[in-house]
Amino acid sequence: MTDEISKPYITYRRGDSVFGKIIRKEIPANIIFEDDQCLAFHDICPQAPTHFLVIPKKPIPQIAVAEEDDESLLGHLIIVAKKCASALGLKKGYRMVMNEGTDGGQTIFHIHLHVLGGRQMKWPPG
Ligand code: AMP
Repeated sequence: MTDEISKPYITYRRGDSVFGKIIRKEIPANIIFEDDQCLAFHDICPQAPTHFLVIPKKPIPQIAVAEEDDESLLGHLIIVAKKCASALGLKKGYRMVMNEGTDGGQTIFHIHLHVLGGRQMKWPPG
């Protein structure tokens, strides 16, 4: 196993990542919404005029290891995301993306839903 592949699993075992630090308020984030299950905050490197992330407080590293018991939590992320998108004025639509694994472009191994809006999205994505 190369370092690049093993790193997410090391992170998973520790149950931590930069998003864990944001959840525990050890590092700052521009928070949009928080409840007992999740946190929504603006992406530090926005790829659209509005780009925020919705993350579960439970440190699920990636979709591939999510369990049946996570079903309602993962659905909750989508509902929170659409409420935040509405609150931020994304009236004409937006894109929700969850990158899975290295081929999917995932770089932080704590599940997160991207919401991008404020411009016309293109298809197919890169
Ligand atoms: P992904 O590549 O799907 O794993 O997305 C990770 C996202 O997290 C990227 O869009 C990063 O810009 C974003 N990100 C990384 N660190 C932070 C941070 N400290 N605060 C907010 N967003 C972050």
